[in-house]
Amino acid sequence: MRSTMMPTPLQVSRILQHGRSVHSAAEVVTWAGPDAAPRRMSYGEVGRKSAQLAHALRDDLGITGDERVATLMWNNAEHLIAYLAVPSMGAVLHTLNLRLFPEQLAYIANHAEDRVVIVDSTLIPLLAGVLDKLSTVRHVVVVGDGDVGPLRHSGGDRVAVHRWDELLAGKPDQFDWPVLDENDAAALCYTSGTTGNPKGVAYSHRSIYLHSLQVPSAEMFSLGPHSRVLAIVPMFHAMAWGLPYAAFMVGASIVMTDRFLQAAPIAAMIEAERPTFAGAVPTIFTDLLAHLDANPADVSSIREVVIGGSACPPSLMHAFDERYGIQVIHAWGMTEMSPLGSVARAPAGLSGPEAWAYRYTQGRVPASVDARIVGPMGESLPADGKAVGEVEVRGPWITNEYLGEGGPDPAKFHDGWLRTGDVGTLSADGYIVLSDRAKDVIKSGGEWISSVELENALMGHPAVLEACVVGVPDDKWGERPLATVVVRDGAAVTVDELRRFLEDRTAHWQVPERWAFIEQVPKTSVGKFDKKRLRAGYAGGELEVVDTRE
Ligand code: AMP
Repeated sequence: MRSTMMPTPLQVSRILQHGRSVHSAAEVVTWAGPDAAPRRMSYGEVGRKSAQLAHALRDDLGITGDERVATLMWNNAEHLIAYLAVPSMGAVLHTLNLRLFPEQLAYIANHAEDRVVIVDSTLIPLLAGVLDKLSTVRHVVVVGDGDVGPLRHSGGDRVAVHRWDELLAGKPDQFDWPVLDENDAAALCYTSGTTGNPKGVAYSHRSIYLHSLQVPSAEMFSLGPHSRVLAIVPMFHAMAWGLPYAAFMVGASIVMTDRFLQAAPIAAMIEAERPTFAGAVPTIFTDLLAHLDANPADVSSIREVVIGGSACPPSLMHAFDERYGIQVIHAWGMTEMSPLGSVARAPAGLSGPEAWAYRYTQGRVPASVDARIVGPMGESLPADGKAVGEVEVRGPWITNEYLGEGGPDPAKFHDGWLRTGDVGTLSADGYIVLSDRAKDVIKSGGEWISSVELENALMGHPAVLEACVVGVPDDKWGERPLATVVVRDGAAVTVDELRRFLEDRTAHWQVPERWAFIEQVPKTSVGKFDKKRLRAGYAGGELEVVDTRE
């Protein structure tokens, strides 16, 4: 029997139209730095400007069909408008990561065949540096003031340069959003892969819509019209965890950081704009915690922060909870997964240490995501919280292949599942515990050491701000851990002390012999520990290593 239900396509334009009308009074606030008032725009205004942008792109710039419109932007109101307008008109939004090396930016923009780049004026030098290599780009739209000369020079006759305000001025504030196939591409993100060229993931209208329904649910981020979301996680990485669409859909206001991503301005934003929720990677919150400890600020508006993108050290969760009354919710996901993923909320009825044990995990997946653990031959392992293997996932917002590869690459896809490259366990009640990235696990004499477990233990030491552990070659054991440690300002600690601290918390044989105190952990373009660079630094003799075997 066929259902009697309407086959209404799930489109981004539905999110846009709903937010614009029903939640027209909600607002997006864009931080403007210490000396300027933040910019405020209602969702009604965002909706009107989205229609104007669509007109400008179609009528003035000639964008038709599924042509790609890229953004090279911080988190701000204009980026939100592009998020909504570009897919809604049928084009494909491509978020460019502004922290990539110029060659990677050029590779990605050419691979995606971007036609237009919408660029923040503060990033003109970055774009001008590569524009002559972006062979498919015909138009650049500059948001904000600033000298566009370098763009004109670099783009030559091929590229027309426009200013956002002038382009949108006088355009109609309604647009006849087309009916689209919900399985067509709406947005495009490239993975920040550490080896080889970045790979494209094309989200569909349907996947974005379903993901946007899930993100605000009580089991995930628990957002609604009374929420104010501080979106620190960048819109150029993994769609800012789906926060812009989810917030617009449910009428949660958004506070955008723009380019002010340091702890001090974030603390100022929290005091001034009173967000109830924030999301970012652990390093941002580690810095924020150190800042708040030294410079008290009123952060009492925040009820929950979601930390993900890398393993969140339990010590960081406890510190926010105990010192600031902020619940840290741990979450896991990846670009290929839209990006969620799992969220660590304890089962009903638990409290105290029992609840904490669940909150340290990477959490449970929602109904739309299946997760399983597989062994080295691809065999399914039991969900018993003990068997360790690679996590595989599948579901309606998980990619089935990479863009332009002509089918699923067996190295990354397996019988209709995505191989995440993350290693861990799955419990009978659905909780994922990750021990490592497959490539970061340290294989010491046939036994595995979890670099993340050692890092979490070390970051529990009061003198340690950050700790990053990588496997390095060892004549006797094949591989052994190297612990690199960033000491907190004003604190001091010795290798012996840290070794004793670890001996109380991990198996004796796992305690590293090689140690290095470093100024800061190298970070990737999205703020994660860059273990590849650390290994290379060690191999190149750049680290001052204390070897306790000597
Ligand atoms: P990306 O696609 O750049 O967002 O990276 C995704 C990868 O980040 C995942 O495959 C994990 O290795 C890592 N990751 C994300 N969240 C977590 C988490 N909560 N704990 C541990 N690793 C994480």
